[in-house]
Amino acid sequence: MAAHERQPQEYYDAIKARFAEERDLRLAYRPEGTAQFVSDLDGDLARIADDPYATEIVERDPIDDEVEVLIIGGGFSALLTSARLREFGVESIRIVERGADVGGTWYWNRYPGVACDVPAYDYLPLLDELDYVPTHRYAGGQEIWDHCRAIARKYDLYDLAVFQTTVTSTVWDEATGRWHIGTDRGDRMRAKFVICANGTLSKPKLSRIAGMETFAGHAFHTSRWDFAYTGTNLEKLGDKVVGIIGTGATAVQAIPHLGAQAKELVVFQRTPSTIDFKEDWPTDPNWARRLQPGWQSKRRERVLRAIEPSEDTKARWAAMTPEEKLRDQEQANIDRLMRIHRRIEETVHDPATAESLKPWYMIMCKRPCFHNEYLPTFNRPNVHLVDTRGRGVTEIRPEGPVFEDRVYPLDLLIYATGFEVQKTGIWNRIVGRDGLDLDGKYADGIRTVFGIHTAGFPNLFIMGGYQASFQFNLTDLLAVQGDHIAACIDHVRRSGRDVIDASADAEQWWVDEVISNRGKTRFSEDCTPGYYNFEGEFQRRQDGNYNGGFRNYNAHLISARDRFDRLFELA
Ligand code: NDP
Repeated sequence: MAAHERQPQEYYDAIKARFAEERDLRLAYRPEGTAQFVSDLDGDLARIADDPYATEIVERDPIDDEVEVLIIGGGFSALLTSARLREFGVESIRIVERGADVGGTWYWNRYPGVACDVPAYDYLPLLDELDYVPTHRYAGGQEIWDHCRAIARKYDLYDLAVFQTTVTSTVWDEATGRWHIGTDRGDRMRAKFVICANGTLSKPKLSRIAGMETFAGHAFHTSRWDFAYTGTNLEKLGDKVVGIIGTGATAVQAIPHLGAQAKELVVFQRTPSTIDFKEDWPTDPNWARRLQPGWQSKRRERVLRAIEPSEDTKARWAAMTPEEKLRDQEQANIDRLMRIHRRIEETVHDPATAESLKPWYMIMCKRPCFHNEYLPTFNRPNVHLVDTRGRGVTEIRPEGPVFEDRVYPLDLLIYATGFEVQKTGIWNRIVGRDGLDLDGKYADGIRTVFGIHTAGFPNLFIMGGYQASFQFNLTDLLAVQGDHIAACIDHVRRSGRDVIDASADAEQWWVDEVISNRGKTRFSEDCTPGYYNFEGEFQRRQDGNYNGGFRNYNAHLISARDRFDRLFELA
């Protein structure tokens, strides 16, 4: 809607008042913020994080050896960085991965409907290098996972890789200038360089719900889908009552499939997602045939330029005061949300269900979702929405979840409750110089340079963690981080040095840079709680992402290559 078609300001103020009401309700229910979740699971719940996909646990002897570069995690972070390291001639690269193959997110998330809603021509990296064109505008999970494996094959990453292995300790040895890596397989590996590529959202978490461990039916987390129970195409659910807790991006993709196959589906909603149109189509073979070598990098440059506001928008904003500009952005956001509300009203037949499915927060407070079958699924007679109105499921009995004194008996309960967010060193204790523990160092706030280096942890690189830029297309971020890390390692090798560590000054500069780019507006504070704003703990100023924009972030990384000696201590 153009600015001149906007509603009077009172209209927007009334909607913003409803946003605040919905946010306050949720904050009052859960003042504990991120502590409402648990990911270190024990007892019966520990199996929630086990791998249901591997057909067998491959037995092997513990490894006692040394490699040049050891990468913890085998997802896109590892694959992208390895590709660049190979170009620099690095031969000794080992991926250590908890799953039974590479792929990371795409190894673990195989739930029905899994797909990425960033266009595949942008999201799938290294398309030029692999001479591959995705089959659809939006790729499904299987295609993306196949692409991951193709990258690993092309860059010979399988030879040294170790799967079904969780790194449990990463300890720096000053005397030898090597990292010592311990695993749950009793390995004693050593490496000159370590890259923490353990993913932005990889460790499944559960909401702390009273009685969760007493549930007598079958249960699993969406990232550990039990196809043996459901059947490959969910065909075994025809006589089952299924419940799903959570309505985030994962649940939005899985629910249409569950609704179509289960005898009954009960959806426990705490906060609805924003559901916009998804315009997907098969790749046009004529277009694909005409693509010239290097097409993806050229396309990426164009896409990144397009993120910048247009000249018209810039001119319009230049003529406004900061308050007017903010109001303009808020009004546009609310207009888009009201369009999403209208789509719900037009699609969902039962008015009470439609009302419940309406989100009341600015778009981008939570991960926006795109789907065309999610909303119609609630018209199915076997699909029931339990709208907990911000409260959530707080109790589970042996028969099933309870809400407002009603028990919902289930055969299968699926947790779509998300993941630990951008945490470095999951399952793994990282100890740097002088016995400094990374979690201990971060206790008073994260301290890094570019979110990649942290002083006292020489030759250690972090990918996908906080203090790096946010980018909706995550592989863009991972690509520039991988380029930077490969350039650092190449610099150390070529300059005849052994060690690169962040200087204290550089670290302070970057922490200040992160803080100065945060909190410019109240956007995050005004948002309903979610993982984007630390579940409402928005005062954690330096613990979030660098908000200076992806292009600036990348410019910082590129310019660092001309001043390695100023930013880093090289020895
Ligand atoms: P999220 O963390 O986004 O969602 C968790 C859901 O669980 C929320 O709806 C949350 O409600 C709900 N919840 C938590 N506790 C309870 C409770 N006690 N009772 C009821 N509901 C509860 O996890 P997802 O796995 O859905 O998504 C994680 C991320 O993965 C996404 O944000 C996205 O970045 C990525 N992703 C991307 C996809 C894509 O490309 N399309 C697809 C899937 C995932 P509340 O909102 O109130 O906190």
